[in-house]
Amino acid sequence: MSDVTVVGLGPMGSKMAETFLAAGHGVAVWNRTASKAGPLVAKGARRAATAADGGLLVVSQTHYQAMYDSLGDARLDGKVVVNLSSGTPEELRAAARWVEGRGGVLITGGIMVPPPVIGRQGAYTFYSGPKDVLDRHAATLAALSEVTYVGADQGLAMTYYQAQLLIFFTGLTTFMHALALMRAAGVSPEEFLPFAQETFTQLGGDGPMGFAKIIAAEIAAGVHPGTDNTMHMQAIGMGHVVETLEEAGLEITVPKAVHALFDRAVAEGRGDEGISTVIESIRKP
Ligand code: NDP
Repeated sequence: MSDVTVVGLGPMGSKMAETFLAAGHGVAVWNRTASKAGPLVAKGARRAATAADGGLLVVSQTHYQAMYDSLGDARLDGKVVVNLSSGTPEELRAAARWVEGRGGVLITGGIMVPPPVIGRQGAYTFYSGPKDVLDRHAATLAALSEVTYVGADQGLAMTYYQAQLLIFFTGLTTFMHALALMRAAGVSPEEFLPFAQETFTQLGGDGPMGFAKIIAAEIAAGVHPGTDNTMHMQAIGMGHVVETLEEAGLEITVPKAVHALFDRAVAEGRGDEGISTVIESIRKP
């Protein structure tokens, strides 16, 4: 039997199979569209007879429904399924029960890097599920990325993953709004980039502008000091951001929604607090 069977050979699964092979593991591969296994078989992988053909199944597909479709009625007695597909925490918990009902164990994972970074320095994956089971396979999985265990609840890996993607998707979309605004003023993306990079670095850093750390500490302590910069001032400031984008003739759905959220924090009576008070509005939709 191969050390690992990779189920799902999209860009992610193919790169995972390739990475396991390069690390010297015996690899079997399975994909709904069988032809995608060809290049990996040419590199030394075995073609799995079914998606359940193997003891350690590493799944990487579009969604969890694909796992159900691929495994079908197969028994999974004694098998460990490591699913690295995207989904919601509740979907993952339901999947854990489904795998268990067939005799197997599900380890869930949210892999935090795109295909070219799999197997490279800086790659990491949030894993959740029974730790003793993960520990047995951690050395194999370490070929793909650092193994970051976050807890027994199978939904948790995806909560971490989706939280990170929220920052990724909205942060980058906001960056593109900024690029469009600068472009409308005749400033090229290359000219603006260093300033944006400085902002990204500062926000995540430890310095006086390290607002990620500052806000996390305030929220953990349940305080929202607004001494130097009140929510009231920042809601007006965000209004000016929206008006500036409007003046430039740009799309404003997301900035307008942020402005509305800021305004609500003020309307709810917290205008004298600091920006971390927005979390109170987020928690009460
Ligand atoms: P896709 O999300 O497009 O996944 C493609 C794979 O899913 C193919 O193997 C496809 O089979 C299979 N699939 C889809 N639906 C079904 C089904 N109903 N039954 C059986 N197989 C099915 O590509 P990626 O490889 O990019 O992503 C895989 C997962 O990794 C996703 O959940 C994604 O969110 C996540 N991810 C992706 C990253 C990236 O940068 N690409 C980064 C981090 C995570 P077929 O070939 O037959 O169509």
